[in-house]
Amino acid sequence: MDIAIMGAGLSGLACAITLEKNGITPKIFEKRGRVGDRFVNGEVLLSIFSRPVHDCIASLSEDFGIYLKPASNIQKMELFSKNEKAILEGQLGFTNIRGREQDSFESQLHRQVQSPIHFHSEHTYEQLLSQFSHVVMATGDGAYAKETRNFREDLTVSIKGTTVEGQFDRYTIMAWVDYTIAPYGYGFLIPYSEKEAVISIAIPDYPNIGHSMDQLWDLFYQKVRHQLNQDLPVTDQFQITEYPIGICRSARIGNTFYVGNCFGSMMPFMGFGQYAALLSGVYAAYDLCGLGKYEELMEPLRQSYDHSLVLRRAIEQLSDEGIDRIVRAMQGYWGEKLFQTKTVNPLKVASYLLRPYVKIKKGVTS
Ligand SMILES: Cc1cc2nc3c(=O)[nH]c(=O)nc-3n(C[C@H](O)[C@H](O)[C@H](O)COP(=O)(O)OP(=O)(O)OC[C@H]3O[C@@H](n4cnc5c(N)ncnc54)[C@H](O)[C@@H]3O)c2cc1C
Repeated sequence: MDIAIMGAGLSGLACAITLEKNGITPKIFEKRGRVGDRFVNGEVLLSIFSRPVHDCIASLSEDFGIYLKPASNIQKMELFSKNEKAILEGQLGFTNIRGREQDSFESQLHRQVQSPIHFHSEHTYEQLLSQFSHVVMATGDGAYAKETRNFREDLTVSIKGTTVEGQFDRYTIMAWVDYTIAPYGYGFLIPYSEKEAVISIAIPDYPNIGHSMDQLWDLFYQKVRHQLNQDLPVTDQFQITEYPIGICRSARIGNTFYVGNCFGSMMPFMGFGQYAALLSGVYAAYDLCGLGKYEELMEPLRQSYDHSLVLRRAIEQLSDEGIDRIVRAMQGYWGEKLFQTKTVNPLKVASYLLRPYVKIKKGVTS
């Protein structure tokens, strides 16, 4: 069995590590010049989105032998709507760095991989399929799956982010669900350290947004500076336009496995996808090693995607006043319950409660 992995990101490298543990050496093809050769960004793993697993860093090492060191754990999240604020406290998850940094998640995974990585690869999927018995598609978006009509795109988002200098509490993240600065989207502040953080907004590309990304960005940046009472000078920035969020109809077709964002690991609600990307890479390797069936192993991740889509569609039907009410309710008892109750999957419960009120295209809900 000859296995090609197309893409040396989270899912591709997780797949390679798992194959190696089972005695198989894949060949990895990466189009860029090195692992993580992209903009630097701070991302989060929130435990509320990985249920039934509460601590995904511990689970990755204990259950799958994948060792990742986050930048920090998250002990507090400040959640803002237009007029309300909720403070959620407890062990909420982790922050981590992505991209060119030495300790980015992809750099850490790279150090755990022995298999050869062919950088600056220009191989197409078709070329790899003709040369290898199995191909793992791990290119970080649904483009290839879309070409083969295997991808259902549910929305696209545009994202703008900057690294800023200032004074931050590395255990606290901030989130905004406020349509005056991010219509139908959200904003985040994620510290890399006590002195640096990333601030970003993600906005779906809907025709009724009414403002350009630059206009919204200015409003957001002003708001964050005002709320933190700091200047927050910018040291780096990135922008992504029309990033597709969707899911594959089949996780495996013939001997091609779709993993990570190629499968649809990025959740439509808040754009989280790291944990699902890592798991999908592991599960594809399990199938290749005869340890399970990829489609079956992916079923819980497919369901999480669907629950998240229901939440996205539900929140899109709310006004700022409706979101204010939810954020007010999350301050105190309900917020604490949501994040701390380990036996309940809040995403699933919310999706079942909201499903009757949400308009979803046929075939999306399971
Ligand atoms: C701005 C932004 C913020 C995010 N924030 C969060 C967050 O806070 N929390 C969270 O959980 N998730 C977040 N996500 C989602 C998360 O980053 C992704 O779900 C995850 O990285 C997907 O992993 P992957 O393996 O599919 O892709 P990646 O890790 O992106 O890896 C894809 C790799 O494939 C390579 N590649 C691409 N095309 C080819 C080709 N043709 N041939 C060979 N190689 C190729 C790329 O260079 C790259 O190395 C965010 C995403 C974005 C864009």
